Amino acid sequence: MTSATRVLVLNSGSSSVKYQLLDMRDGSRLAVGLVERIGEGTSRLVHTPAGGERRERSAPMAGHEAALRAVAAELAADGLGLDSPDLAAIGHRVVHGGLRFTAPTVITDEVLAEVERLVPVAPLHNPANIVGIRTARALRPDLPQVAVFDTAFHTTMPEYAARYAIDTETADAHRIRRYGFHGTSHAYVSRETARLLGKDPSEANVIVLHLGNGASASAVAGGRCVDTSMGLTPLEGLVMGTRSGDIDPAVTFHLRRVAGMSVDEVDELLNKRSGLVGLCGDNDMREIRRRIDEGDERARLAFDIYVHRLKKYIGAYYAVLGRVDAVAFTAGVGENAAPVREAAVEGLEQLGLAVDAELNAVRSGEPRLISPADARVAVAVVPTDEELEIAQQTYSLVNN
Ligand code: ADP
Repeated sequence: MTSATRVLVLNSGSSSVKYQLLDMRDGSRLAVGLVERIGEGTSRLVHTPAGGERRERSAPMAGHEAALRAVAAELAADGLGLDSPDLAAIGHRVVHGGLRFTAPTVITDEVLAEVERLVPVAPLHNPANIVGIRTARALRPDLPQVAVFDTAFHTTMPEYAARYAIDTETADAHRIRRYGFHGTSHAYVSRETARLLGKDPSEANVIVLHLGNGASASAVAGGRCVDTSMGLTPLEGLVMGTRSGDIDPAVTFHLRRVAGMSVDEVDELLNKRSGLVGLCGDNDMREIRRRIDEGDERARLAFDIYVHRLKKYIGAYYAVLGRVDAVAFTAGVGENAAPVREAAVEGLEQLGLAVDAELNAVRSGEPRLISPADARVAVAVVPTDEELEIAQQTYSLVNN
């Protein structure tokens, strides 16, 4: 047991660090902030302490160490320094935990080496997470630091959902399988949805639709993930802000052979120039709705393609689960875009799914039901809170 009650959550990207300091007695935020454009000339730090003014600084920060030192200085200025005895642990978001990490894990040299061995399957994400961990450990070598993996919640997927139907030896040699991502959010939202229904998570079957710029769906049976839409990488599944989601893999051969594109160009096309942005030039659902209201056909088609895919996944996961207690919408689009929610369940009355127009129009930061009172299956909006989930998982690990 520790008497310290604070947890610092770090989400380290290749050129950014997002952070939140939480008080675990009530889950409140003591400070939140981010550093952007690390290693790109002038970096920008935005820091907001609870109940205080937002502060913004621009300075060159060559790497994550300089960035984290700057964050530590901001926290110290608010009396929340990293050297405080009240700091119980640092929780790190780590994108890929492979098959080895099925739960949050206290970081040791051995754990870090294992996360490094996963770089070939997560080349875009794990290197930045590793740099963040190394830097934080150098700053506070004595403090417990915990890795919370995006993939962990999905490690309960049965083998028949996790394996691609390709040659087994080739798949195993290169660790090719469906890992899934956004797991921290799917775990949090499925649990909060059960709570909203007044059920224990072990009794609730929930389809979670995490619709942010990245988007994924999951089928959660009694608190355990049984299927999810992202795969080896976050490219598979739903139509996203800039990613295509599901596509015939032969499209990539075609782009190579016929369009003469390199592997990197195809990668960039499917990850950065596809999805909503590829279809209509915008990836912000607000802008797309505005254009639709003005009669823009491309925006309309992009919206329809997005919703069609979503509906297919709702149907697929309904079939996977057999019995569904709730469909939960979360993240930027899921929490805010009422027209997406309405369109996604439209025509699914036979499945017991419907949205009440008035409830759907309510804007709120609270978990809420948007289905009619007599609906067989609940439709819910449940704001995600990945930082709180990371902090709670971190704290419960070091506080045992
Ligand atoms: P990520 O964490 O993946 O970057 P978020 O969960 O923050 O993404 O979601 C960002 C997206 O949410 C935006 O690209 C935009 O499409 C959508 N969004 C945010 N606010 C609204 C809103 N008020 N109405 C419709 N869509 C919104």
